[in-house]
Amino acid sequence: MIFDHIHNAAIYKEMHPSFKRAFEYLKSTDFNNMENGKYVIDDDKIFAIVNRYTTEAAEARQWEAHRTYIDIQYMVSGEENMGVAPLHHAKIVKPYDRESDFMLLEVLGEEFTIKPKFFTIFFPSDVHKPNLITKEPQQVLKVVVKVKVEPQQAMQLCFASNNKHKLEEIRLALADSRIDIRTMQELGVHDTLSETGTTLEYNAWQKTNQLFTYHGINAFADDTGLEVEALEGMPGVYSARYAGEKSTSQKNIEKLLKEMNGIENRKAKFRTVICLIINSAEYRFEGEVEGVIAESPRGEGGFGYDSVFIPEGQSRTFAEMSPVEKSSISHRSRAIQKMVLFLKEEFLKNEPHYE
Ligand code: IMP
Repeated sequence: MIFDHIHNAAIYKEMHPSFKRAFEYLKSTDFNNMENGKYVIDDDKIFAIVNRYTTEAAEARQWEAHRTYIDIQYMVSGEENMGVAPLHHAKIVKPYDRESDFMLLEVLGEEFTIKPKFFTIFFPSDVHKPNLITKEPQQVLKVVVKVKVEPQQAMQLCFASNNKHKLEEIRLALADSRIDIRTMQELGVHDTLSETGTTLEYNAWQKTNQLFTYHGINAFADDTGLEVEALEGMPGVYSARYAGEKSTSQKNIEKLLKEMNGIENRKAKFRTVICLIINSAEYRFEGEVEGVIAESPRGEGGFGYDSVFIPEGQSRTFAEMSPVEKSSISHRSRAIQKMVLFLKEEFLKNEPHYE
């Protein structure tokens, strides 16, 4: 959230391509003689709502947040209190409705007083409760300029992993989607992500939740396991440490081939679970690929168990394929494609250049 005097608006004009125009409008318009209502400034990208109303007790109002529009709330006359809190501390009371660009929440926030010529900027990550009384109810004139969130801003996602191979696969799968993937390093986050669960679902959630809760970053993480039928789904969630806590891929593969020695049923599958958290809402996507465990390692590419996994319908292992070939059929890219479809459907529907 930003709270400042309109004189200082220039400081913020570079934050968003539409802010300059929005502030020019606020500075150059005499709102006193304007009727209450909506005023279009730049198509659906910027519009203003002029509103006269009586301030109310905090108990009578609800916490709200938006996704599609940023609010610049500018006080023309009178004064009111506003509450504010970070979205990731809030509990959803009424889920997001795209039509009205509105969700209702419950949260413990802080209150401040806004007086004429001051403005606040509420971003999608700011839960807010405006229109509150200071001492007594009073009549105010306030203008809310709605600024459409830029797709680039809306779709910056952090991939909660330090695995370079996975990042390469994910960037390949998202190459034509214009979803802006950032690494933890690029965002200055140097946490070690915990993975202490007994399911892929929990681990994927745990990593993503760590980034969202402690850093307020919209993020996704995957957790993958190799599930071997004859070993009752092992190594599964323990794939990374199958041969011990500080194991290497080579040792894991050696153990796997030893366990599989003499076993005829070599059926296995890779299963990936992705957890995505956007503005505190959690989503899950799954992808899998079936195949068989090779008798011995083959190929130099990929990572982990790639050299012993032959996907169904293929004669080569994942490690014998190019990154593009693996990505076209892999468990991870299948889960990612589901996530991309969802993002396009939920968040990018009105952005033609994402189609
Ligand atoms: P993670 O916890 O999702 O990083 O995956 C656990 C382990 O599964 C990794 O250390 C790898 O050994 C293995 N793994 C994950 N994805 C793949 C893959 O695409 N190919 C081969 N092995 C993988």
